[in-house]
Amino acid sequence: MKRSNPLLWISFGLVSLTLSILLMSDLAVNLIPNQNVEIFKYRQKYSEALAVQYSLLAEHGDSRAIQEAFNLLVKRNEDILSAAVILANGETLAFAGRHQHVWKQPQGDSSTPDHIQVPIFNSTDRWGTVQLRFRSVDDGGWRSWLKDPWIQFLGLVIGSCFIGYFLYMKRTLHQLDPSSVVPLRVKTAFDGLNAGVVMLDAHERIVLANRSFGKIVQQDPHTLMSKNLNEFHWLSSPLGLPLEAFPWVTARKAKCLELDFPMALSETSSGESKKFRVNSTPIQDDQGDVRGMLVSFDDVTTLEETIRALETSKAELESLAMRDPLTGCFNRRALFEVFEDLHASCSSDGLDFGCIMADIDHFKLFNDRFGHAVGDQVIQVVAQILSTTIRPTDIVGRYGGEEFCILLPGQDHESTARAAERLRLAISAQANQAVRTTGDNRITMSFGISCFSLGSSDPLELVDQADKALYAAKNAGRNQVGQWTQEGPLAGLPIELELLESFARM
Ligand code: GH3
Ligand code: MG
Ligand code: MG
Repeated sequence: MKRSNPLLWISFGLVSLTLSILLMSDLAVNLIPNQNVEIFKYRQKYSEALAVQYSLLAEHGDSRAIQEAFNLLVKRNEDILSAAVILANGETLAFAGRHQHVWKQPQGDSSTPDHIQVPIFNSTDRWGTVQLRFRSVDDGGWRSWLKDPWIQFLGLVIGSCFIGYFLYMKRTLHQLDPSSVVPLRVKTAFDGLNAGVVMLDAHERIVLANRSFGKIVQQDPHTLMSKNLNEFHWLSSPLGLPLEAFPWVTARKAKCLELDFPMALSETSSGESKKFRVNSTPIQDDQGDVRGMLVSFDDVTTLEETIRALETSKAELESLAMRDPLTGCFNRRALFEVFEDLHASCSSDGLDFGCIMADIDHFKLFNDRFGHAVGDQVIQVVAQILSTTIRPTDIVGRYGGEEFCILLPGQDHESTARAAERLRLAISAQANQAVRTTGDNRITMSFGISCFSLGSSDPLELVDQADKALYAAKNAGRNQVGQWTQEGPLAGLPIELELLESFARM
């Protein structure tokens, strides 16, 4: 929201103060007399004078002269609407104007500013009453209200004082404005800066702000004078939480520079926030006391967005470079990179490391009988089953055409053999139904396992051992697990597992 001009507020405040003084003075010494009271007094005196004349005519019983005098009075005096002489017995002796219609009898002998009545006496007795109906002093409309001298006086005071105070304050504040002492060329250079720059006093109040800072906070730089810099909606960056300490406060207290502080400013209109790098420099006097701060705001919103976009595309590219496009598994290159890392960490932790090589049996037949597309689908289904059957910490990579390598960090020979057997059973149980058409060809896989505790010196050698065990399984009839032993490759599971499996089948 745009801040209203403080000059207007100051002028308004001074006018209010002047008015209060005037009203209080009026209460004390009655500065301007009440117009209505004065008119009432005048009308009463005027009516008294007329009544004296009429009482003289009445004494001579000259009612005709009274009637004529009334006619003349109402005709020549615009202020008098009607007049009448009412005898003591209630009879009307003479009247002029529409007296019966416009006269409203006040209580008893009393008068009001518009209805004046004066008793007439002949020698000793009360003979009658002169009634004069005057034009209303207050017709209730805004025109008569405006005509009131008191209102006119107040209006004049308000108007002239407001203009006077405004012009005077404008001139005075201009003299006091710190920016007015800054030479024009310095100010032009200051406003030409891309970064938002503010100068603060020792209480974090803005004493000078350039145009760029005005744009940042969406306010005219002149209206920012004396506003506290801490009052804007500053947030931490990148989390967007309220700030624990403002960098310019930290810099002032520590009397040292605070550079490249990441901050954000929430924008209420758009709901988005701008990001800044903030530099705060204390301004010290000869005694080393901090007299103020120079704070600059570099808008890095676009820069940070670009960096974030680049990081996202980099991560996407890296992920693409590591994955096999057909199956989504790690490709051979990525598999060996991960392999090296996992192997190193397992070795330093003293853990074993299992490796399984797996190959689809008679895969060529699927290609030859149902076409390459079905062959691809078989590879995809197999990769899917392998990936979902292993533990989340294990890794599946596509090693070659229809050959996969599975890494089992922390697993020894026996648990690797168990995992391979579980994979074999999962493939033979689930793969066929997941592929569009395979005729009577059953999808099975052969597996070869090895682990580091069997004496391989590096990942490559471990893979090679597992591969040899795989070919032992192929040679022994396929759809089975082969294992690497101290004596070399061997078809079939380790003897303990074989026994367990056969017990399970019984
Ligand atoms: P074995 O049981 O001894 O492993 O026999 P096999 O037929 O599975 O093995 P072989 O090595 O003779 O055949 C593998 C075939 O896999 C050869 C190759 O054309 C095919 N192949 C390799 N990569 C792909 C692929 O990405 N898609 C398809 N559809 N076929 C592939
Ligand atoms: Mg094969
Ligand atoms: Mg093969």
